[in-house]
Amino acid sequence: MGKALIIGAGGVASVVVHKCVQVPDVFEEICIASRTKSKCDTLKEKLDGGRTKIQTAQVDADNVDELIELINDFKPEIVINVALPYQDLTIMDACLATGVHYLDTANYEPLDTAKFEYKWQWAYREKFEQAGLTAILGSGFDPGVTGVFSAYAQKHYFDEIHTIDIVDANAGDHGYPFATNFNPEINIREITANGRYWENGEFIETPPLSEKRVYDLPEIGPKDVYLLYHEELESLAENIKGIKKIRFWMTFSEKYLTHLKVLENVGMTSIEPINFEGQEIVPLQFLKAVLPDPASLGPRTKGKTNIGCIFQGTKDGEEKTYYVYNVSDHQECYREVGSQAISYTTGVPAMIGAMLLMKGEWKKPGVYNVEEFNPDPFMEALNEYGLPWQEDFNPELID
Ligand code: NDP
Repeated sequence: MGKALIIGAGGVASVVVHKCVQVPDVFEEICIASRTKSKCDTLKEKLDGGRTKIQTAQVDADNVDELIELINDFKPEIVINVALPYQDLTIMDACLATGVHYLDTANYEPLDTAKFEYKWQWAYREKFEQAGLTAILGSGFDPGVTGVFSAYAQKHYFDEIHTIDIVDANAGDHGYPFATNFNPEINIREITANGRYWENGEFIETPPLSEKRVYDLPEIGPKDVYLLYHEELESLAENIKGIKKIRFWMTFSEKYLTHLKVLENVGMTSIEPINFEGQEIVPLQFLKAVLPDPASLGPRTKGKTNIGCIFQGTKDGEEKTYYVYNVSDHQECYREVGSQAISYTTGVPAMIGAMLLMKGEWKKPGVYNVEEFNPDPFMEALNEYGLPWQEDFNPELID
């Protein structure tokens, strides 16, 4: 069917590549391009020999001209951006300049301030529309599948959804005293920020990790979850009509939070650059360098993740609750693609979004979050490509 350019060669990119080559009718050719070309070459060596032709390239995705040259050279239909959130806008600019569709898994972040806002990317709506190009934002798991779950609930089960509780639970254990499951910079910036939830038309702020509850979740049991802000709250508040309240909950063990507190107290989680012996360094970037590489956690991580959405609302005048979730097993993911479940649950939906765009099912000019597309083919593809979901119309989850 066509060609896809995959930018990034980290944990998520590796899963995207593994999954694209499983669908060679759609992904006839891929190019893996990243800052460190050797990582792209390693992936190519591992996966070459199938029906999908693979090539690799070096690119600095902060540099629009380099991106344009690469895109003009390879001529893909779509760019799958699984580098870092800092590169979203340069890659979108390059897509516009070359007439290529765009997909990512995380909202743009400026280097100096952690915002978790879509405003910069939503500002591209008109440009993509006029160019006849599609940009799909946030096609990972959360954001991503959580938005698709919401669109699916809205389409099939509710007249009005009043509350959404997104619950992201990881019961995996990698055996290290402290490590983050994906890019530590992104992960720590997310957790140390104030919590925020949507209620009656506005966001309400809470101090970091101040709201806690216990959810007893299928296949992983009771877990402490904390209220966090997460970027899909912003788009779901816009796109799910009549919504009154949206919250995002994530599990953290006590051990993890104690380490984080200490790192925060000593200033290691700061994104303010400091001068160290004549050199500018960002403490959080330095911390990233000394922590285990998330890509190395795969073989060590055991246990399961459970990520899902609990919806409350009405159908035909009756109160209704609906819970839909995916359970993934870290070791099973690792056996299949050589990565743990966090990367797996992000990479599979990125491939699916790109596949639907290339097939024309999710193609519409403009910039869209995933919940703005028809959820049905995505839900089917989740079952087919490794993220089967389950539903419960009578959930009793809160301890
Ligand atoms: P990694 O840090 O493992 O990988 C990032 C990759 O991007 C690396 O290969 C890195 O290169 C490359 N890169 C960084 N900067 C540049 C640049 N300027 N030019 C070219 N390549 C660059 O991150 P992950 O794979 O864990 O995450 C990828 C994305 O997925 C992130 O945006 C993250 O926020 C998002 N994500 C989304 C989730 C969701 O559910 N929606 C969940 C988890 C992650 P190098 O190898 O040289 O460092």
